Amino acid sequence: MLLSGKTAVISGAASRRGIGLATARLFAAEGARVAILDIDGAAAREAAAAIGDGHLGIGCDVVDRAACDEAAGRVLAAFGQVDVLVNNAGITQPLKLMEIGAADWERLIDVNLRGVFSLSQAFVPHMRERGAGSIACMSSVSAQRGGGIFGGPHYSAAKAGVLGLAKAMARELGPDGIRVNCVTPGLIQTDITGGKLTETMKAEIIKGIPLCRLGTAEDVARIYLFLASDLSAYVTGAVIDVNGGMLIH
Ligand code: NAD
Repeated sequence: MLLSGKTAVISGAASRRGIGLATARLFAAEGARVAILDIDGAAAREAAAAIGDGHLGIGCDVVDRAACDEAAGRVLAAFGQVDVLVNNAGITQPLKLMEIGAADWERLIDVNLRGVFSLSQAFVPHMRERGAGSIACMSSVSAQRGGGIFGGPHYSAAKAGVLGLAKAMARELGPDGIRVNCVTPGLIQTDITGGKLTETMKAEIIKGIPLCRLGTAEDVARIYLFLASDLSAYVTGAVIDVNGGMLIH
């Protein structure tokens, strides 16, 4: 098993068809103890129980630094150590530039970008102390190709910000034994689109994907597993596309 004896924290991992829960399930199957952090605390506890014994589910809004610190304290009290942090939580909105209000901008940037910053700050001191850790961050193909799939320009901006933040963290934290990498998925079939992605839109998108299908949550979970495990021991500051060839660059 690739994560035997390891512990992992995954944010945004409570939604039933989401990438986070698929990752939690895979990590647990590979031997890890997993802490699921989600803004929906009840769903987080339910999800943790569903993936087996010994896992944790904690309510945590990743935008709220105090909540991140509190969650980190609870995870460390329960697990003793954290080897892997997956900054996966995110939201999107299908808005055009002129439709984005101040509150939309703030919440999108906050959850997708500040959330990565806040939760990382909560766990880095512990990882530094141990001289080890792997942090994987969720970006998106939208950051690389300027959106045009589902999320608006504010989503592209937030996810592009994640790339910059993660690369700078990789450079700064490498000497402490902490690796930081990003995944950039294409269109993955989850509930993040809130029913607003029609079959016609999907068919149109698939025409531009060389592998001729949309992605699954498991497609991304397997890349998070690679980044979490020692298979990627010499990989940091990397961005791994999981897009079926939608963007080849
Ligand atoms: P999802 O909606 O199924 O999962 C997102 C999870 O994040 C949910 O469980 C939600 O409750 C949680 N969440 C939202 N706001 C939060 C907050 N403030 N604090 C803590 N948790 C919060 O969607 P998903 O598609 O599995 O998305 C996971 C990540 O993947 C997101 O960052 C998303 O932007 C990114 N992504 C998704 C796709 C896609 O096509 N589905 C593509 C590229 C990137």
